[in-house]
Amino acid sequence: MIIPKNKELNPSQEKEIRSILQEFQCGLQEVAGTTRKIYAILGDERDELMINRIEGLPYIARVDTIQSPYKLMDIKSELSHHVTKIEKVKIKEELLFIAGQCTIDIENPNYFIETAHAVKEAGANVIRGGVWKPRTSPYSYQGQADAIDILLEASAQTGLPANVEVMEEEHVEIALQNKVGMMQIGTRNGLNYSLLRKIGHLSSKQKTLILLKRAMHMGSLNEFISAGEYIVSGGNPNILLCPRGTVPSMDGYRNHPDECITPLLKQKTWAPVIVDPSHSVGKAAYVPHAALAAVAYGADGLVIESHIDPLKGIGDDPKQAITPIILKSLIHDAKALRKHVKFYQGKYISK
Ligand code: PEP
Ligand code: MN
Repeated sequence: MIIPKNKELNPSQEKEIRSILQEFQCGLQEVAGTTRKIYAILGDERDELMINRIEGLPYIARVDTIQSPYKLMDIKSELSHHVTKIEKVKIKEELLFIAGQCTIDIENPNYFIETAHAVKEAGANVIRGGVWKPRTSPYSYQGQADAIDILLEASAQTGLPANVEVMEEEHVEIALQNKVGMMQIGTRNGLNYSLLRKIGHLSSKQKTLILLKRAMHMGSLNEFISAGEYIVSGGNPNILLCPRGTVPSMDGYRNHPDECITPLLKQKTWAPVIVDPSHSVGKAAYVPHAALAAVAYGADGLVIESHIDPLKGIGDDPKQAITPIILKSLIHDAKALRKHVKFYQGKYISK
């Protein structure tokens, strides 16, 4: 919808706009109100260049588009019937729990193996463990490639699929060769469009699940969903959207908790929403509250940092990992809460 600065376009302005629209195979329809006129764009209005050229005209106040900017991630796309599965879990039909250490400590592999068994016992469906670590400071521990062997060993022993963060093409190739169950794009790469495109393309045969974290400087929800569109358009529809808090942080929390965007995402896209409360609040004591809040908002699952002995962990684990005992009780409560939430979802969330 084109909104002029004045009450209506004069004939030469209207002519100029019509000729721009024509270049993009679109037309113009005047909508007359009692005090002013606005103008509807007829046709596919998703071409950014067309919109920018009209918005750049000095007599135009703004252009509001109605069509969603993403074709595949849209709730109305054919893919809305797609069922994302990992092992036996049909995500959205039941809650998915991903749990494990932030970072695998190569010096103490037993912590990870024991954590893997303990989170399985607590009810987790996927074991997570950081191999390559994106750290804010170049002097912080960056992870070690050999840690992938520990992750794979824990996955083999427990039978749980493994989740690992990938930061570059080489990591994607190693993860795919080793048939990990899930790859994670971290917040720092949430807007790295060339990596998003590559991971979608490289995983298009195996269709490995991809957990896309919300970039911490992310703007609109459309930007988050469009980042997912890059992956899906590469040929892999097995995408999970993961709110994990944004910046600036809220006083006392590591980031600004954003689990409340879950129902908003669900009105726009069919993609499952898996919330990460650990990085959002950044402190173990608050994680269960944020996790249950996410379920209350309609999340399809949670990714939670957990360690059998958090204070002996590395990376984020000493401050934000919860113990498997707490995790077990949290998974139990999350499942119970989910039953109540479903009642409201059926009433208010349109499919
Ligand atoms: C992590 O999962 O350990 C991690 C680094 O997450 P994020 O990208 O959300 O900071
Ligand atoms: Mn972490």
